[in-house]
Amino acid sequence: MSSPKYKRILLKLSGEVLMGSQQFGIDPQFVSELAGEVKAARETGLEICLVIGGGNIFRGMAASAKGMDRAQADYMGMLATVMNALAMQDALEQLGVPTRVQSAIEMDKVCEPVIRRRAERHLDKGRVVIFAAGVGAPYFTTDSGAALRAAEMRCDALLKGTSVDGVYDSDPKSNPDAKRFESVDYDTVLADNLKVMDASAVALCRDNDIPIVVFSVREKGNLARILAGEGTRTIVTKGA
Ligand code: UDP
Repeated sequence: MSSPKYKRILLKLSGEVLMGSQQFGIDPQFVSELAGEVKAARETGLEICLVIGGGNIFRGMAASAKGMDRAQADYMGMLATVMNALAMQDALEQLGVPTRVQSAIEMDKVCEPVIRRRAERHLDKGRVVIFAAGVGAPYFTTDSGAALRAAEMRCDALLKGTSVDGVYDSDPKSNPDAKRFESVDYDTVLADNLKVMDASAVALCRDNDIPIVVFSVREKGNLARILAGEGTRTIVTKGA
């Protein structure tokens, strides 16, 4: 792997990529493959903060559409992100990568609380820090959690690894003529309501000048390609 241009990144993985080819839950084999990619990236000297979604287990909004109280459903969604964080921690440690999980909802039997200075120390020591439970409040998503931690930890970029290979002008699943952007600016994403991350996450990245790199993490080796400045992706930054 050629040396990455970033020193410290926040890698956000959507929960659904942990499912592998399943319809629900966690596929340990696929989580292990993802962990292998994270390990390879770390071996280049990169400092890595991780945020993992919970959509493979529970999404608050979907449950509230079926009648649940939204805040209550979101608490459950946040707990799902903790389960995913623990699954990724296990997979990374099985590969010999030291990690710490820090949760925005305190759960001292299974992980640490979020403490920025302590997270800094972990990164100094070469550990991967996995931030769980999003921002720790309902009505948010893990995208906002990722943007918040990226700003707080002064990451050089937020890499969003998901099932699609970038940002399109319309939904590529329903429109075969949808066009992928090589790069697009934050304000266009917000004004055109492009499906990248929720608006609060995009605004937080814009206000803190954190580029967002959207790429598919389902293709093997793609994280390494993206870090080397190659591969298919969309970069969201400020306009020219
Ligand atoms: N969630 C929340 N606050 C947060 C982060 C997450 O309430 O700060 C809840 C919310 O219900 C969300 C669920 O956790 O639907 C799972 O997170 P998300 O949908 O962001 O996961 P992803 O789509 O990335 O898999």
